[in-house]
Amino acid sequence: MGAKEGFIQYKRELPETRSPEERINDYKEIYQPFDGKKLNEQSARCMDCGIPFCHQGCPLGNVIPEFNDAVYHNEWEEAFHILQSTNNFPEFTGRICPAPCEASCVLGINKDPVAIELIEKNIAEKAYEMGFVKPRIPKSRTGKSVAVIGSGPAGLAAADQLNQAGHEVTVFEKDKEVGGLLRYGIPDFKLEKWVIDRRVKIMEQEGVIFSTETEIGFNIKAENILANFDAIILATGAAQPRELKIKGSDLKGVHFAMEFLGKQNQVIAGEIKENPISAKDKNVIVIGGGDTGSDCIGTSNRHGAKSITQLELLPKPPQQRTVLNPWPEWPMTLKTSSSHEEGAERVFSILTKEFVGNEKGEVTGLVLVDLEWKEENGRMQFVEVPKTERTVPCDLAFIAIGYTGPAQNGLLEVFKVEKMENSLPKSKGYQSTSKKVFLAGDMRRGQSLVVWAISEGREAAVSVDEFLMGSSSLPRKDEGFYQVEEEIAS
Ligand SMILES: Cc1cc2nc3c(=O)[nH]c(=O)nc-3n(C[C@H](O)[C@H](O)[C@H](O)COP(=O)(O)OP(=O)(O)OC[C@H]3O[C@@H](n4cnc5c(N)ncnc54)[C@H](O)[C@@H]3O)c2cc1C
Ligand code: SF4
Repeated sequence: MGAKEGFIQYKRELPETRSPEERINDYKEIYQPFDGKKLNEQSARCMDCGIPFCHQGCPLGNVIPEFNDAVYHNEWEEAFHILQSTNNFPEFTGRICPAPCEASCVLGINKDPVAIELIEKNIAEKAYEMGFVKPRIPKSRTGKSVAVIGSGPAGLAAADQLNQAGHEVTVFEKDKEVGGLLRYGIPDFKLEKWVIDRRVKIMEQEGVIFSTETEIGFNIKAENILANFDAIILATGAAQPRELKIKGSDLKGVHFAMEFLGKQNQVIAGEIKENPISAKDKNVIVIGGGDTGSDCIGTSNRHGAKSITQLELLPKPPQQRTVLNPWPEWPMTLKTSSSHEEGAERVFSILTKEFVGNEKGEVTGLVLVDLEWKEENGRMQFVEVPKTERTVPCDLAFIAIGYTGPAQNGLLEVFKVEKMENSLPKSKGYQSTSKKVFLAGDMRRGQSLVVWAISEGREAAVSVDEFLMGSSSLPRKDEGFYQVEEEIAS
């Protein structure tokens, strides 16, 4: 344990951010460096609980009190080894995880939780700085080959684990560069892309083969993959956006969020010259109150939008937990992201009824109506508030209301993987209905988080290893202790 009374002595502190006025002029990370002594104090706040609820909150089962203690004693190498034992990519999660571990930290009952994500990021960065992150080349090879299709965090974690188990792993990626949504979804101001390049370089040195600009099912036929590899992991994400089926949604200027965000990341990477969608001097409306919507706000501000409004169907959440949402549940409270701080109006309990346009087929406005939410028969229902219907100006609209599942492009069909009614693939654990084909990440569980994708990749790797070798010595999450995930199909 850190300091005996660290949680009384020290307050939770996070790094300063660059001012919103400064940071909207670039796409660099927004956090300033955090002083080593202060970090030490933050780790000292950990109480080393008898039952560390932070473990239960973390989908990876990160061994949090132990690495907090190592950081408190400045034992960085040990801290890194503890962290690496459960998390392949702490440099990603330390930057962009919504930190469910912090939501379940025991200190959160009546104080601010331990700054676990900040500590994690710093352990990872110190490990690179001090040379602890070295290529770990497997001592022997099994002679078995695995194709991982998709290079998002799920595919990367699976590839890393299976390579360490001695299998020959090839990661196929349809895009120009490796990383999935880490690279072509999450904006650079949340995750700069050199962080991915640095990790991919290590994985290459360890023996993982990356084949980019290779779309399986199209550039290479599924039959070839099935014939040439002993096992296959599909980790192709859940890229099918949820549509907003209202009048006018086909007008020019109405886009899915990812059409805007992905292109912006390509511009910053120098892959394309300019974003075909510009928010400059436009009245931007973001439909959907979640994280993707928030990323559209941050990017629109950087383009120089005239105004930005974010609309959310649901009521405004409370600032603090209510009695119906006690610790250690995920707090259903109002989240204010760094993009919100940079400027946007947020409107809750509002329904988008129709897009209106001009004679050129361009969107010019949005018809909205206020909603009143009421509980009926145990369910929250909304009714429109009479006389509140109005049209607001809109030159550019982003639809960010989630994803329905894997892209409907026939990939599952060519691998003979059966689907469920909700369009997700059927699976028993991580194995699909096609014997050699396994599933991981958003493709299996639906749109989720990077931390879940890493967890899925690790667990799928265990299943593949068992399938190939009869048993596996790869680490597996202790399902008796950590949150047991609902099986999506039996
Ligand atoms: C805009 C946005 C912001 C987000 N922000 C956060 C955040 O801040 N924190 C967080 O935790 N989560 C965030 N998420 C969610 C997170 O990015 C995903 O849950 C995670 O990336 C899923 O990982 P994955 O590996 O399953 O799939 P993906 O990251 O989607 O990767 C799938 C990969 O498969 C490739 N692929 C698809 N089909 C083929 C094929 N036929 N052949 C070859 N390759 C193929 C794709 O090109 C892609 O690279 C965000 C998501 C979005 C859209
Ligand atoms: S729950 Fe919080 S205080 Fe307790 S061990 Fe985990 S991080 Fe430390």
